[in-house]
Amino acid sequence: MVELDLIIKNGTIVTASDTYTADVGVQKEKIVSVAQDLTAGPETQVIEAKGKYVFPGGIDVHVHLQLPFSGTISADDFENGTKAAACGGVTTVIDFAIQSKGHSIMDAIEARRAEADPKVCIDYGLHAAITDWNDKTQAEIKQVIDYGIPTFKMFMIYKNEGWMADDGMLFRALEETAKLGGHIGVHAESAFVLEMLIDRYAKEKEKWGAYGHTLSRPAFTEEEAIIRAIKWAEVTGGQLYIVHMSTGGGADAVHAAKERGVRVYAETCPQYLLLDDEVFKGKNGHLYATCPQVKKPHDNERLWKGLLNGDVQVVATDTCTFTSEQKAAWNGDFRKIPFGMPGVETMVPLMYTEGVGKRGLTVNQLVALISTNPAKLFGMHPDKGTIAVGSDADLVVFDPEKKVTLRAADLQTNCDWSPFEGWKLVGYPSTTISRGAVVAQDGKFVGEVGHGKFLQRRPFGKL
Ligand SMILES: [Zn+2]
Repeated sequence: MVELDLIIKNGTIVTASDTYTADVGVQKEKIVSVAQDLTAGPETQVIEAKGKYVFPGGIDVHVHLQLPFSGTISADDFENGTKAAACGGVTTVIDFAIQSKGHSIMDAIEARRAEADPKVCIDYGLHAAITDWNDKTQAEIKQVIDYGIPTFKMFMIYKNEGWMADDGMLFRALEETAKLGGHIGVHAESAFVLEMLIDRYAKEKEKWGAYGHTLSRPAFTEEEAIIRAIKWAEVTGGQLYIVHMSTGGGADAVHAAKERGVRVYAETCPQYLLLDDEVFKGKNGHLYATCPQVKKPHDNERLWKGLLNGDVQVVATDTCTFTSEQKAAWNGDFRKIPFGMPGVETMVPLMYTEGVGKRGLTVNQLVALISTNPAKLFGMHPDKGTIAVGSDADLVVFDPEKKVTLRAADLQTNCDWSPFEGWKLVGYPSTTISRGAVVAQDGKFVGEVGHGKFLQRRPFGKL
């Protein structure tokens, strides 16, 4: 018998469906056995996990590393952002290649890979963001899916950035990807009503400060856009994925659409579950500005309910790190805040403390939301998202007893502030393993730069 490279001993294995005690045996990059009392050879590395959980590695399908945005570049690049991910128990991230108007999607993908490939410390994929729909784009969809990118993103806002897709583009992209097994992720907000409201509140921007950001984007601007996008999915038969859903009304719309048999899935993020728009009234309220922004306590509650009852299938982070220095560019004008916050490093422990610890989420539901469902929907299962023989050895040994007070200064991210500064967590990743290699230990990165691989993902992902 060939000696195992790594054994995780006596841990409580958690998948989306089961919880049991066993050893996990790893050879090279794969899980080769899950059984009782695996035997270590002289060269085998053994990690003792008694009293700890062993989760499949976290998968954050929504990050923006080194994104040029708002006149600056997000502060966690592909190297530091993936180190931060590893420290927080995440072993796969998916970022975005955004098509430039007049250029092909493949140009954007190749440019993004040139930035990411040498730097990534864990495995990563890309979504293709479509900003320019024409016959060439339509013909390119198949090529992009064949390349290993079956998930597309369209922005229903951001006209000035040149990213906005109108309803006709969205309709055609849903039609086209329905045939080929792709899905369309949408940033759903109501562009024209939003623009009108932003102008309205900008007239009194000194009076409102950062709170003007939330006044100008009421929940109905997201809810209306979600309902509209769902309609296009319903009539085209396309598969729709609502990214960073922030409203309870959105969850209601997704619920109703699923009842009618529409192929729609939804993602939310820790900030929409745990923060509300009172944060904008504080002295540093502008730091919390994201797009969409955090909403009201009743939205938080409805989204939690959605995680528990299946209306919302994925938790991701929309990580887009801007330091307090970068955020200072707003200078009192809520329209000029770089939108985004750090998140990938704190997703898993926050969801454990707040979800499992306080709101009745089971550990299996947690694993489904942060690993198994994203792996299935995004074409990576069963290589990723589960603990089984033949799967990639992407694993997190998670200590459910470990108490941590979150401090930006203690985290790997380049961000000098945290939306969860001072929050008390019970439960934290102790060891993160990416394809058989230990990449983080007790919140510190111990892996190798460039260890990560670009993931070619499969079409027709569903739950
Ligand atoms: Zn985003």
